[in-house]
Amino acid sequence: MQVLPAGLPETPEDIYRRVWREFRPRSHPPTVEVKFCRFANADSYIRMRDGHVQVRITDVLEGAPRPVMEALANILVAKLLRRPVPAAHNDRYRRYLNRRDMRRSLHLVRQIRGRKFISGPQGEHYNLEEVFEGLNARHFHGLMARPALGWSQRRSKTTLGHYDPSHNAIIISKLLDRSEVPRLVLEYVVFHEMLHLRFPAEHEGARRRVHTRQLRQAEKEFASLKEAKEFLKKL
Ligand SMILES: [Zn+2]
Repeated sequence: MQVLPAGLPETPEDIYRRVWREFRPRSHPPTVEVKFCRFANADSYIRMRDGHVQVRITDVLEGAPRPVMEALANILVAKLLRRPVPAAHNDRYRRYLNRRDMRRSLHLVRQIRGRKFISGPQGEHYNLEEVFEGLNARHFHGLMARPALGWSQRRSKTTLGHYDPSHNAIIISKLLDRSEVPRLVLEYVVFHEMLHLRFPAEHEGARRRVHTRQLRQAEKEFASLKEAKEFLKKL
Protein backbone atom coordinates (compact mmCIF):
# COMPACT_ATOMS: atom_id res chain seq x y z
CA MET A 1 0.00 0.00 0.00
CA GLN A 2 1.25 3.44 -0.94
CA VAL A 3 0.91 6.27 1.51
CA LEU A 4 1.02 9.82 0.25
CA PRO A 5 3.26 12.10 2.30
CA ALA A 6 1.09 14.31 4.49
CA GLY A 7 0.46 17.82 3.18
CA LEU A 8 1.20 17.02 -0.45
CA PRO A 9 -1.12 19.29 -2.39
CA GLU A 10 -3.76 17.75 -4.60
CA THR A 11 -3.22 18.23 -8.31
CA PRO A 12 -6.15 19.55 -10.38
CA GLU A 13 -6.60 15.96 -11.62
CA ASP A 14 -6.85 14.73 -8.00
CA ILE A 15 -9.56 17.28 -7.30
CA TYR A 16 -11.66 16.06 -10.25
CA ARG A 17 -11.25 12.42 -9.29
CA ARG A 18 -12.24 13.15 -5.71
CA VAL A 19 -15.27 15.20 -6.77
CA TRP A 20 -16.26 12.39 -9.12
CA ARG A 21 -16.17 9.94 -6.21
CA GLU A 22 -18.34 12.29 -4.17
CA PHE A 23 -20.98 12.21 -6.91
CA ARG A 24 -20.61 8.49 -7.60
CA PRO A 25 -19.16 6.78 -4.53
CA ARG A 26 -19.59 3.28 -5.91
CA SER A 27 -18.09 3.72 -9.36
CA HIS A 28 -14.43 3.59 -10.24
CA PRO A 29 -13.22 7.16 -10.94
CA PRO A 30 -12.04 7.74 -14.51
CA THR A 31 -8.61 8.97 -15.53
CA VAL A 32 -8.61 12.73 -15.74
CA GLU A 33 -6.59 15.27 -17.68
CA VAL A 34 -6.87 18.98 -16.83
CA LYS A 35 -5.42 21.66 -19.08
CA PHE A 36 -5.45 25.43 -18.79
CA CYS A 37 -6.01 27.01 -22.19
CA ARG A 38 -5.82 30.47 -23.68
CA PHE A 39 -9.55 30.90 -24.29
CA ALA A 40 -11.07 34.25 -25.22
CA ASN A 41 -13.62 34.02 -22.40
CA ALA A 42 -14.35 32.42 -19.04
CA ASP A 43 -15.84 29.22 -20.45
CA SER A 44 -14.63 25.82 -19.30
CA TYR A 45 -15.31 22.46 -20.87
CA ILE A 46 -15.55 18.88 -19.72
CA ARG A 47 -16.08 15.75 -21.77
CA MET A 48 -15.68 12.03 -21.42
CA ARG A 49 -14.29 9.68 -24.06
CA ASP A 50 -13.73 5.96 -23.47
CA GLY A 51 -13.71 6.39 -19.71
CA HIS A 52 -11.23 9.26 -19.88
CA VAL A 53 -12.26 12.72 -18.71
CA GLN A 54 -10.83 15.82 -20.36
CA VAL A 55 -11.17 19.21 -18.69
CA ARG A 56 -10.27 22.51 -20.34
CA ILE A 57 -10.19 25.62 -18.19
CA THR A 58 -9.39 29.20 -19.15
CA ASP A 59 -5.89 30.18 -18.05
CA VAL A 60 -7.41 33.26 -16.40
CA LEU A 61 -8.39 30.86 -13.61
CA GLU A 62 -4.96 29.30 -13.32
CA GLY A 63 -4.10 31.10 -10.11
CA ALA A 64 -7.60 30.88 -8.62
CA PRO A 65 -7.86 29.91 -4.94
CA ARG A 66 -8.50 26.27 -4.07
CA PRO A 67 -12.17 26.67 -3.07
CA VAL A 68 -12.88 28.26 -6.46
CA MET A 69 -11.23 25.40 -8.36
CA GLU A 70 -13.16 23.00 -6.20
CA ALA A 71 -16.41 24.82 -6.98
CA LEU A 72 -15.69 24.69 -10.71
CA ALA A 73 -14.89 20.97 -10.49
CA ASN A 74 -18.26 20.39 -8.84
CA ILE A 75 -20.05 22.41 -11.53
CA LEU A 76 -18.34 20.59 -14.41
CA VAL A 77 -18.62 17.08 -12.98
CA ALA A 78 -22.31 17.69 -12.15
CA LYS A 79 -22.88 18.76 -15.76
CA LEU A 80 -21.09 15.74 -17.12
CA LEU A 81 -23.11 13.38 -14.92
CA ARG A 82 -26.32 15.34 -15.58
CA ARG A 83 -26.82 16.07 -11.92
CA PRO A 84 -28.04 19.36 -10.48
CA VAL A 85 -25.17 21.76 -9.81
CA PRO A 86 -24.83 22.26 -6.05
CA ALA A 87 -26.00 25.84 -5.39
CA ALA A 88 -23.22 26.74 -2.95
CA HIS A 89 -20.54 25.84 -5.51
CA ASN A 90 -22.31 27.68 -8.27
CA ASP A 91 -22.56 30.74 -6.07
CA ARG A 92 -18.91 30.65 -5.02
CA TYR A 93 -17.73 30.33 -8.60
CA ARG A 94 -19.97 33.17 -9.88
CA ARG A 95 -18.88 35.41 -7.01
CA TYR A 96 -15.25 34.89 -7.91
CA LEU A 97 -15.80 35.71 -11.58
CA ASN A 98 -17.76 38.77 -10.53
CA ARG A 99 -14.87 40.20 -8.54
CA ARG A 100 -13.57 43.45 -9.93
CA ASP A 101 -10.06 42.15 -10.67
CA MET A 102 -11.43 39.06 -12.42
CA ARG A 103 -13.83 41.10 -14.50
CA ARG A 104 -10.90 43.28 -15.54
CA SER A 105 -8.76 40.28 -16.57
CA LEU A 106 -11.63 38.73 -18.51
CA HIS A 107 -12.35 42.02 -20.19
CA LEU A 108 -8.73 42.23 -21.36
CA VAL A 109 -8.70 38.63 -22.49
CA ARG A 110 -11.84 39.13 -24.59
CA GLN A 111 -10.42 42.32 -26.04
CA ILE A 112 -7.05 40.89 -26.96
CA ARG A 113 -7.92 37.31 -27.89
CA GLY A 114 -11.47 37.62 -29.13
CA ARG A 115 -11.69 38.18 -32.82
CA LYS A 116 -14.33 40.62 -33.80
CA PHE A 117 -15.75 41.37 -37.18
CA ILE A 118 -17.19 44.83 -37.31
CA SER A 119 -18.71 46.02 -40.57
CA GLY A 120 -18.88 49.74 -41.26
CA PRO A 121 -21.88 51.84 -40.20
CA GLN A 122 -23.21 52.15 -43.76
CA GLY A 123 -25.86 49.54 -44.47
CA GLU A 124 -27.93 48.96 -47.59
CA HIS A 125 -30.71 51.15 -46.34
CA TYR A 126 -29.62 52.88 -43.15
CA ASN A 127 -26.44 54.52 -41.89
CA LEU A 128 -25.82 53.72 -38.22
CA GLU A 129 -23.54 56.70 -37.71
CA GLU A 130 -26.27 59.04 -38.78
CA VAL A 131 -28.81 57.28 -36.56
CA PHE A 132 -26.41 57.30 -33.62
CA GLU A 133 -25.60 61.01 -33.93
CA GLY A 134 -29.29 61.94 -34.25
CA LEU A 135 -30.05 60.09 -31.02
CA ASN A 136 -26.91 61.48 -29.40
CA ALA A 137 -28.07 65.04 -30.10
CA ARG A 138 -31.65 64.41 -28.99
CA HIS A 139 -31.04 62.34 -25.86
CA PHE A 140 -27.45 62.81 -24.72
CA HIS A 141 -26.70 66.48 -25.54
CA GLY A 142 -24.35 65.14 -28.22
CA LEU A 143 -21.93 64.13 -25.48
CA MET A 144 -21.75 60.37 -25.94
CA ALA A 145 -18.46 59.27 -27.48
CA ARG A 146 -19.21 57.25 -30.57
CA PRO A 147 -18.33 53.56 -30.29
CA ALA A 148 -17.62 51.36 -33.30
CA LEU A 149 -20.90 50.79 -35.14
CA GLY A 150 -21.70 47.88 -37.36
CA TRP A 151 -24.29 45.53 -38.81
CA SER A 152 -24.34 41.88 -37.84
CA GLN A 153 -23.37 39.32 -40.44
CA ARG A 154 -26.54 37.31 -39.98
CA ARG A 155 -30.10 38.65 -39.99
CA SER A 156 -30.65 37.71 -36.39
CA LYS A 157 -34.21 37.86 -35.06
CA THR A 158 -33.26 36.99 -31.51
CA THR A 159 -30.45 39.52 -31.07
CA LEU A 160 -31.56 42.77 -32.64
CA GLY A 161 -28.83 44.79 -31.03
CA HIS A 162 -25.89 44.20 -28.80
CA TYR A 163 -23.34 46.36 -27.03
CA ASP A 164 -19.95 44.74 -26.63
CA PRO A 165 -17.98 46.57 -23.92
CA SER A 166 -14.76 44.67 -24.64
CA HIS A 167 -14.62 46.07 -28.14
CA ASN A 168 -16.66 49.20 -27.40
CA ALA A 169 -18.96 48.39 -30.28
CA ILE A 170 -22.68 48.47 -30.98
CA ILE A 171 -23.75 45.79 -33.40
CA ILE A 172 -27.23 45.91 -34.94
CA SER A 173 -28.97 43.02 -36.65
CA LYS A 174 -28.92 43.29 -40.42
CA LEU A 175 -32.59 42.35 -40.26
CA LEU A 176 -33.30 45.99 -39.44
CA ASP A 177 -31.43 47.35 -42.47
CA ARG A 178 -34.47 47.23 -44.76
CA SER A 179 -36.94 49.74 -46.15
CA GLU A 180 -39.87 47.85 -44.53
CA VAL A 181 -38.40 48.67 -41.14
CA PRO A 182 -39.47 52.15 -40.05
CA ARG A 183 -36.61 54.39 -39.02
CA LEU A 184 -38.04 54.86 -35.53
CA VAL A 185 -37.81 51.09 -34.94
CA LEU A 186 -34.13 51.04 -35.80
CA GLU A 187 -33.68 54.17 -33.69
CA TYR A 188 -35.26 52.48 -30.72
CA VAL A 189 -32.90 49.47 -30.95
CA VAL A 190 -29.84 51.73 -31.29
CA PHE A 191 -31.10 53.92 -28.43
CA HIS A 192 -31.47 50.86 -26.19
CA GLU A 193 -27.86 49.84 -26.89
CA MET A 194 -26.69 53.39 -26.22
CA LEU A 195 -28.33 53.13 -22.82
CA HIS A 196 -26.15 50.08 -22.15
CA LEU A 197 -23.14 52.36 -22.67
CA ARG A 198 -24.66 55.01 -20.45
CA PHE A 199 -25.71 52.62 -17.66
CA PRO A 200 -23.20 49.78 -17.28
CA ALA A 201 -24.25 46.45 -15.76
CA GLU A 202 -24.37 46.31 -11.98
CA HIS A 203 -22.44 43.57 -10.18
CA GLU A 204 -23.47 42.47 -6.76
CA GLY A 205 -22.21 39.26 -5.18
CA ALA A 206 -22.97 36.47 -7.63
CA ARG A 207 -25.50 38.56 -9.53
CA ARG A 208 -25.20 40.69 -12.59
CA ARG A 209 -27.95 43.07 -13.61
CA VAL A 210 -27.76 44.30 -17.18
CA HIS A 211 -31.04 46.21 -17.37
CA THR A 212 -30.76 48.43 -14.35
CA ARG A 213 -33.61 50.51 -12.99
CA GLN A 214 -32.01 53.68 -14.36
CA LEU A 215 -31.76 52.11 -17.81
CA ARG A 216 -35.44 51.13 -17.79
CA GLN A 217 -36.37 54.61 -16.60
CA ALA A 218 -34.26 56.35 -19.26
CA GLU A 219 -35.73 54.16 -21.99
CA LYS A 220 -39.12 55.75 -21.38
CA GLU A 221 -37.73 59.01 -22.80
CA PHE A 222 -37.97 57.48 -26.25
CA ALA A 223 -41.06 59.11 -27.73
CA SER A 224 -42.36 56.24 -29.89
CA LEU A 225 -41.44 53.45 -27.49
CA LYS A 226 -44.79 51.66 -27.72
CA GLU A 227 -44.98 51.88 -31.51
CA ALA A 228 -41.43 50.56 -31.89
CA LYS A 229 -42.00 47.64 -29.51
CA GLU A 230 -45.25 46.71 -31.29
CA PHE A 231 -43.46 46.58 -34.63
CA LEU A 232 -40.64 44.45 -33.20
CA LYS A 233 -43.15 41.94 -31.83
CA LYS A 234 -44.45 41.30 -35.35
CA LEU A 235 -40.99 41.14 -36.92
ZN1 LIG B 1 -30.54 45.39 -23.37
